[in-house]
This record gives sequence, structure tokens and C-alpha cells, in this order.
Amino acid sequence: MTETQSGRKALIVGCGVAGPVLAMFLQRVGITPVIYEGRPEPRDEAGFFLNLAANGTDVLATLGLEDDILELGHRTDSLVFQNHDEKRLGENPTPTTLVKRGLLTKTLREAAIDRGVTVEFGKRLTDVETPNDDVAIAYFDDGTEAHGDFLIGCDGIHSRTRRSILPSAPDPEYTGIVDSGAFARNDSIPDSDGVMRMTFGVDGFFGYQKVPAGEIYWFENHERSPEPDRAALDAISTDEWRAELLERHRDDHDSVAEIIRSTDGEIGRWPIYDLPSLPAWHRKSACLVGDAAHATSPHVGQGASLAMEDAIVLTKCLRDVGDVPAAFEAFEQLRKKRVEDIVEMSRRTGNQKAPSNAVTRKVRDLVLPFFLKRGVEEFDQIYSYRVDWDEPVSVRS
Ligand SMILES: Cc1cc2nc3c(=O)[nH]c(=O)nc-3n(C[C@H](O)[C@H](O)[C@H](O)COP(=O)(O)OP(=O)(O)OC[C@H]3O[C@@H](n4cnc5c(N)ncnc54)[C@H](O)[C@@H]3O)c2cc1C
Repeated sequence: MTETQSGRKALIVGCGVAGPVLAMFLQRVGITPVIYEGRPEPRDEAGFFLNLAANGTDVLATLGLEDDILELGHRTDSLVFQNHDEKRLGENPTPTTLVKRGLLTKTLREAAIDRGVTVEFGKRLTDVETPNDDVAIAYFDDGTEAHGDFLIGCDGIHSRTRRSILPSAPDPEYTGIVDSGAFARNDSIPDSDGVMRMTFGVDGFFGYQKVPAGEIYWFENHERSPEPDRAALDAISTDEWRAELLERHRDDHDSVAEIIRSTDGEIGRWPIYDLPSLPAWHRKSACLVGDAAHATSPHVGQGASLAMEDAIVLTKCLRDVGDVPAAFEAFEQLRKKRVEDIVEMSRRTGNQKAPSNAVTRKVRDLVLPFFLKRGVEEFDQIYSYRVDWDEPVSVRS
């Protein structure tokens, strides 16, 4: 496939996961990207960790970045599920890469900058104007504006781009779950040998992996209603939060409390939202990508990988399909079903983590091995998805 020199300029809003990956792909087809990031400066320590799936690392391989990311992370060879008594319920042998979020976004951003992409910090988008199909204007809270041929909103789940171009689009939905995450050190917890252990606790779900350097990456999910106010959640001190989690997991096997107790630093916490379906992902010369278009809860570990898939597919559409609005429409057609199915599957998976009583636990322990086996097939279909850069895009007319 010949890569074209189109001379077009793309405004990219947000330098998280999707933004830099998209910028690097757009460059390949001769489009000049400029990334506008709302934060005043990079926050490479922020955000704890995530699991990157093979469909995501494959997109990075197309950019020649797979090894850089794998070097930063730790392999998770399989997920082992157990009940609160540490009885093994099943296994998902789908490998992933466990990586600190800040290191992932730093590596992506620096790779983009090394390849000549301009990233401007302190540019918080306030509004988008799309006067016609080949002009987009971004307005920022410092009073400046930027003009381009088109604009892509990579500004995450609470996207300002989305509110600007699709004012009547639904807001993200609170899924009823609060997620916590942190790092701990504890010599009495054995090395995980690449296994992430997941516990269906009595009043919460707990997962951890101890990496060879001795650090324990852990997360916890529990149901919480009504929807917590973000500021109120942040106002809870780490000590209080730790005490609450210890209380929730007091009836679970000892490693859970051991790990929570031996956490020195901050314990991150996030109310979990998703965005099941938007009526459209684009308007005229502006389009949404990643969480801005289809945020998913983290229970199948796909949000970042889907954002990367979006970046490569959207660029192929801009490369192969007529004008910009037609390319955006092709992109939406190619992506919508896959991502909405995954958002739905992730919500379902999260719902299985609901608290249990003695009876529901017995039933769950009996049926879960069967569901886990079926889940492995579903996971495999999601994770084995590949986007071939060289294959031309073809869409239904
Ligand atoms: C607790 C938790 C755990 C997760 N675990 C996993 C996991 O294990 N695996 C996985 O694949 N995914 C996981 N995810 C999901 C994953 O983090 C997201 O799907 C992914 O980051 C989406 O990438 P994005 O580029 O669309 O958005 P983001 O990475 O959120 O990036 C958005 C960027 O836009 C910037 N921005 C926002 N508003 C503006 C504005 N107005 N102007 C300019 N810039 C702006 C932000 O500062 C940010 O840099 C998890 C999410 C959460 C909350």
C-alpha cells in the first residue's frame, strides 16, 4: 500500500493512550498531527497500572514499539480465580502485560515526540467548531485556538470534545463498582510466577500479582451505591480507605488482608463508568476515539487496547476512504459492534463480582468453573483480533 502525502493537519485533543498512538499513525500517511493536552505538564507517576492485551501490543508492534512497552512491564501468563477460602475455581490462560500507566503513556508520548509530533501541554479544550467538512477549530481555556483540517477527540471518558460535537449524547453510566489499586511489598507473599490471582471475596473482589522485583500490584472492586461523589471519595484518607477495605475482606483468605495492610503508599480509587453506546461518533470534521467514544469498565482489560485499535483503524480509513466525513463514518461502521460488545461483556463480568452470602457462594463456586471456561473462549476472540496495516479498508456502501 502506498502511503500518501496529503498535507492535512489533524488536531488531536488529549495525550493519554489514544492520542500519541493516533499521531504516530497519522504521520505515516502524511498527515501532520498536533496534540493538545489539558494537563499543564506530564504526570508520569499518575494512575497506578493496567493490563495490556495482545490486541493492543500488536498495534504497538505495527509502530515498532512493542518491545519498548514489553520491557517496561511484566508478563501475566494467566489469571487464576479462587474463592474467599483460596479454593481454585478456574484459570484464564490468556497472556497480557502488566504495566504502570504512567510509564505506558510516557513511552507513547516520548516516542511520538521523537518522531517529530508536536505535543502542547496546558491546552484544555473548551469547545470545538466545525464550520464545514474540512475545517475544525479547537478553543482552549487559556484563550487560544487552533485550526486544522479535522479534529480527533482522544480526551477520555469525560470528553469535552464529545460534549461539544454531540451535545445530546448520553453521559457515561456509573456501573455501581468502585475500583481501588495500589502497590505493596511483603516478603511473606510468594512470587506470583506470572500469575495474577483473583479472589471472589465475601464483600469484594481482589486481584494481585507479585512481580520479580518484589512489588505487589493489587486491585480491589466492590459494589457501592449510590454513585460516590468524586471529591468525597478523594477526601477519604488512605488510612481510612485501607481500614474499610480490610473490613470488607475480613472473611477472606489471609493474603488479601496481608497485602492491603502492607501497602505504604497511596491507594487509588475510581468509581467505574462505561459508555455503552453513542448515537454517532463524529460530526462533520470532528470525530471521537478511545474512551471518548466507547469507554469500557476495566473487567476484561480492554480499554487501552481498544483505544490503540481505534487509532490504527481510523488512520487506515483516512488513508483509504474518500473525504474526511466518509472516513469517519467508515471508522464508526468498522468499530462500533466490536467495541460495544466488549463494553457489554465487561459490564457483565463486573456484575459477577457482586457480594455473596453462604448460599449464593456455594452455587457460584459450582457454576463458575463452567462460566470461566466459556469466558476463556470469549476472551480469546477479543484478544486475538488483529488489524493489518497493509490491508485496504473496505466498508459497506
Ligand atoms: C481503574 C481503571 C483501570 C483500568 N484498567 C485497565 C486495564 O487493565 N486494561 C486496559 O486496557 N484498560 C484499562 N482501563 C481503561 C484505560 O485506562 C482507558 O480505556 C484508556 O486510558 C483510554 O485511552 P484514551 O486515550 O481514550 O483516554 P485517556 O488515557 O484517559 O487519555 C485522555 C487524555 O485526554 C486529556 N484530556 C481530558 N480532557 C481534556 C481536555 N478538555 N482538553 C485537553 N486534554 C484533555 C487527559 O488529561 C488525558 O491525558 C482502566 C481504567 C480505569 C479507570
